[in-house]
Amino acid sequence: MHRTGIFFHYEDGERLRDFPQALDGILDKDNVFFHDAFYPSKPPSSCDLVPIPERWLYQVHSPEMVKRVRAIGAFEGALFSASGTVAASMRIWRGEIDNAFVFTGYGDHHAGKDSFGGGCCFNGAAIAIQQLRQQFGARRLAIVDTDPHHGNGTWEIFEDDADVLYVCFCSGSSRHQNNNANVQVPLKVSDDEYLGLVEESFLPRATAFEPETIFWNWGYDGTQGEYGDIGLTPGAHVRLAQALQKAADDLCRGRLVVVLCGGRRRDLARRLIPQAIRVLAGQQPQHILDRG
Ligand SMILES: [Zn+2]
Ligand SMILES: [Zn+2]
Repeated sequence: MHRTGIFFHYEDGERLRDFPQALDGILDKDNVFFHDAFYPSKPPSSCDLVPIPERWLYQVHSPEMVKRVRAIGAFEGALFSASGTVAASMRIWRGEIDNAFVFTGYGDHHAGKDSFGGGCCFNGAAIAIQQLRQQFGARRLAIVDTDPHHGNGTWEIFEDDADVLYVCFCSGSSRHQNNNANVQVPLKVSDDEYLGLVEESFLPRATAFEPETIFWNWGYDGTQGEYGDIGLTPGAHVRLAQALQKAADDLCRGRLVVVLCGGRRRDLARRLIPQAIRVLAGQQPQHILDRG
């Protein structure tokens, strides 16, 4: 049984409107810990999510870029999004929890050293990795990216850094550089093909790399009917969660940080996120997955 942290902050948008209420039946479990910044209806067992110091941003992003994020009014949401990922990875490192799901208002993988866009402002996983290195001496961290779009920001940040394994599954052509790997996904795939691709392209690389923690940039925008539709059914995401949690169990004592990336539909968020968290927490996913 894993101890699972859930990191949540209020997002001024549609897709997370049903949360945290949609986590009923999960939050009351003894192995689930809820960290929340603003939400008015905090469960009694919740802890506060505090923002990271601004200077931590500058270890990954340029001061000019941070200024531009402020100018579009996204600073606070982006800061709390990154803060959730940093707090999750530090608590895991200290052994307080085993894995985590991070709700974000602004995702990660399009945010580079000096550029942002596509709903991503700060690169939470990259900021977390810098802190794990500085504060705890972490050496080998892995990021697996199953959002259907290319993680150009994450790629740029780590392209010269062989101590981070970054494996991106997207439509761009396959290439490899310094433990950054891009794995080309067909424009339409079946669940089985996609799962097979992740298993054959991520698992052997991760096994050889021996990561200390795995970050999973999880976007559900590749689901049928979403803006990045590559043909996946909702059930594919639960199978992915099972496969990646198993990889973390086998390789790094279960240490998995799931960072919510792309996806717009509120109904899919309500349906998929609790399932993914159930997998992390070792609860049985409910099996209504392949319908609709
Ligand atoms: Zn890519
Ligand atoms: Zn995406």
